[in-house]
Amino acid sequence: MYARKLKTRSLPYLFYWLVIFTLSSCTFKEIKSNDTSKETSKQNLYDSTSNIPESNVDMELIKLSEHVYYVQGTSGIATENEGFISNAAAIITGEGIVVFDALGTPSLASLFIQKIREVSNQPIVKVIVSHYHADHIYGLSLFKQQGAEIIAPLGYSDYLDLPIANQRLEERRVSLAPWVNETTKILRPDTVIETKTVFTLGEIDFEINYLGRAHSDGDLTLLVKQDEVLLSGDLIFEGRIPFTGSANTKHWLELLEQIDNSSLHALLPGHGAVAKDPNSAIKQTLNYLKTVRSKMQFAVEEMMTFDEAYDSVDWSEFEDIPAFKSAHRINVFGIYLSLEEESME
Ligand SMILES: [Zn+2]
Repeated sequence: MYARKLKTRSLPYLFYWLVIFTLSSCTFKEIKSNDTSKETSKQNLYDSTSNIPESNVDMELIKLSEHVYYVQGTSGIATENEGFISNAAAIITGEGIVVFDALGTPSLASLFIQKIREVSNQPIVKVIVSHYHADHIYGLSLFKQQGAEIIAPLGYSDYLDLPIANQRLEERRVSLAPWVNETTKILRPDTVIETKTVFTLGEIDFEINYLGRAHSDGDLTLLVKQDEVLLSGDLIFEGRIPFTGSANTKHWLELLEQIDNSSLHALLPGHGAVAKDPNSAIKQTLNYLKTVRSKMQFAVEEMMTFDEAYDSVDWSEFEDIPAFKSAHRINVFGIYLSLEEESME
């Protein structure tokens, strides 16, 4: 059958396959040559790790469930606390470790790995990234050096291939010096997730849920099935004002309304404390997004300027929530702009 198909292929087709074959064998060779130089790259690993300034932050590895451990960043802005403002988790199985999110600097990732090593010597085989934003990905190279496969949601390249990614990196090299510096690199994923994906490692079943554009250009969550723990990335913020940036808050809201949390033991958000009551954590983010959207929806319909719109609303219900000052006004502005866009669709 296949031979017959081949015979019927015209010359241009053969040429096409020849080109594809040549290209793919080049890629293959490249991978092979990387493999053979493993020893050299290991050497580089130690050299580059030793160039990473040692972090001084307080980082405690907390056990959340039988297999899930996490570290929790503070609620400040991105450049406070050496950039340790986001959370990351490690799921330790009998056959290796899965890490969720890579923290905001290589130094933080290095400290996180040290903490993991205090409880397990298993290899770190995968690092799953909730989304491509600076505070979750600048530590990726450390996990890559450990041999981990980097897994990220489709949409990562919308961030990575736009000038914003480099501009942000340049900006952080100044605002987060020396923790982010010339050696800090943003790595691409090895595997891209574009649909619900399940895998098993050791005794644990994992479920990656691809969410599309919500908080960022591509988001995912990870469910650790046996432990009934949901790692939500920045879909949910606990005890602090969310960052909404250029989010698609319409889709984000829809997703929050759909989350089935009935059997969850705990939910670890991308920022803020673990939610032992996942329901209330989801409600908080949901309420924030709903309120800001409905107030700005009204303003857009009334054709108010942003300043008029912002000042016309009583925001006092959110004022005492951490990160209000640093995040709220800019969130409202982004949502105001996106609603203007939505109104023109
Ligand atoms: Zn974040």
